[in-house]
Amino acid sequence: MSGPRLVLTINCGSSSLKFTIINPETGEERLKGQADALGSSSAALSWQHDEKEGTQKLSPGDDYEGVIGALVKRFDGPWSALREQLRAIGHRVVHGGEQFADSTLINDSVVSAIRACCELAPLHNPAALQGIQASLLAFPELPQVAVFDTAFHQSLPDYAYLYALPYSLYRDHQLRRYGMHGSSHRYIGERSAEILKTPTDKINVISAHLGNGASLCAIKNGKSVDTSMGLTPLEGLVMGSRCGDLDPGLLLHLGEALDYSLAELEQLLNRNSGLLGISELSNDCRELEEAMGKGHAGASLALKLFCYRLAKYIAAYTVPLKRVDSLVFTGGIGENSSWVRRETIGWLSQLGYQLDNKRNEDIRFGSEGQISKDGTPDILVIPTREDWVIARDTIRLANRAL
Ligand code: ADP
Repeated sequence: MSGPRLVLTINCGSSSLKFTIINPETGEERLKGQADALGSSSAALSWQHDEKEGTQKLSPGDDYEGVIGALVKRFDGPWSALREQLRAIGHRVVHGGEQFADSTLINDSVVSAIRACCELAPLHNPAALQGIQASLLAFPELPQVAVFDTAFHQSLPDYAYLYALPYSLYRDHQLRRYGMHGSSHRYIGERSAEILKTPTDKINVISAHLGNGASLCAIKNGKSVDTSMGLTPLEGLVMGSRCGDLDPGLLLHLGEALDYSLAELEQLLNRNSGLLGISELSNDCRELEEAMGKGHAGASLALKLFCYRLAKYIAAYTVPLKRVDSLVFTGGIGENSSWVRRETIGWLSQLGYQLDNKRNEDIRFGSEGQISKDGTPDILVIPTREDWVIARDTIRLANRAL
């Protein structure tokens, strides 16, 4: 295909904006960068382009609009050659509610629908919305696409997505499980199918995305049939600083007996729990592994709890799948921590899982491959490529809009 064909992807987090320029056909990243610590005096833009790194200070007043303004200036100057090759822009949006089972071209009604989903994801969607609005103003001539973290999980059956609460809460307020990390799990399903030379619509995969946020997905015949995150990204696995599953009665107890306010609960569950809460040291797996090596009891306990919960979930997901073609580890922890993979698989011998220790130790830093013993159920490590999924969806929809 001639003409511009690169995609700019934009991912607005609560205080950061990550961006890439990708060739959607090959997955090659031509530019990658992020704006960090937005709203603080250390706010800065950093990037890698043509194997060179650069940084630029941002002003503490710069919001997403300010960052996109800084990007536009660079596109008018040093990155103008890339700018000329841009075909479309893809935005990651965490929550698409029940409206979006696929990515979509952005227009006024899509912006309104994303705004309506802010109520379901108050910590995430407002940032994406600001990024989208700034980018629509800055690049009015380019088609723009929203890619939802929840979309891949819209295939969950009702008995998997409903909470056992009064049905009216679902009917009247859309309170149900939605799941997140959809682009990552979808990529893992598709890539597993390629590696195992199975058609995508026939593959059954358990995908473990383990980063600062962590979630598990059961993929049956290429479609998500269960996932561990719920209405919000708090449910399920133990995460860096989020607690995952809890007895909901504990929340009542914290409110009634210990006088926690809603704001304090939000802080406790999202920011002070998980690996950080148990270890009393760090939310970072690599730091905890180092501390465990030096005998830190809290670090060791936190990592064990993380792996035990993960193993229980993996075993549970054999229920909807029956036949599992591959168990896949991905995300910063899944791709790099041979310790977490070994500890987790250690709980799963009753399912036939066995690690090849050398393969497990050798795989890290972006490599892909099998880590199970030959002749035992497949366990793979696959580096996730959420940005590539966003870029592929974006070009597909942008071309359809012609
Ligand atoms: P995010 O969810 O923010 O995208 P990542 O997928 O980048 O997070 O994962 C971050 C996690 O990966 C951190 O806990 C980090 O310590 C862990 N990690 C990265 N490299 C390693 C490593 N070599 N060994 C163990 N953990 C690692």
